[in-house]
Formats: sequence, structure tokens, C-alpha cells
Amino acid sequence: MTDKPKESFPCSECQAGMMHMQHMTYFTWLDEELVTVPNFPAWVCDMCGRREYDAQAISWLTTILNPETGKASASKRRPRPTLKKHSGTRPTP
Ligand SMILES: [Zn+2]
Repeated sequence: MTDKPKESFPCSECQAGMMHMQHMTYFTWLDEELVTVPNFPAWVCDMCGRREYDAQAISWLTTILNPETGKASASKRRPRPTLKKHSGTRPTP
């Protein structure tokens, strides 16, 4: 029985160390600007020092750094759904 959440896993690089969650400053380039993200979750091997950034965190970061991804439908703007404020027929539950 595993009563603890998964906090570490074997390193895929050296096979001997364990990857541990750490928070560090993540650096990335956005166009020509260096963006730093403090307290970014990353998995770090205690043997070889291999780093693997958390996939979900990367996904989240990519989303906030690329506003275009958030509004992908901006180019092909679809008409707003018409709000019917006085509909004759109510949806019956
Ligand atoms: Zn390792």
C-alpha cells in the first residue's frame, strides 16, 4: 500500500539517483526578452543533477507566456451566441 504521494522517482539519466521536487528560478526567452519565473517546480536528481521541469508547470507557463494560444479563436471570430432574455419556452428540468 502506498500511503504517501509520489514525491520522488528514479532518475532516468543515471538510474541511481532520485528525482526530487524543488523550486527554482526558471529562465526562458520570450522573443528577445529573458523571462524569469521564481519558485518554478522542477525535478532535480540528487546524484547527477539532471533537471526535469514539471510538465504541467511548463504547460501553464507556455500558456501565460503565449497569449496567442489562449485566444486561438481570435482570428476566426465566431459570432456571439445571442442571449435570449425573454424566451417564450423555458427549458423544463
Ligand atoms: Zn541522475
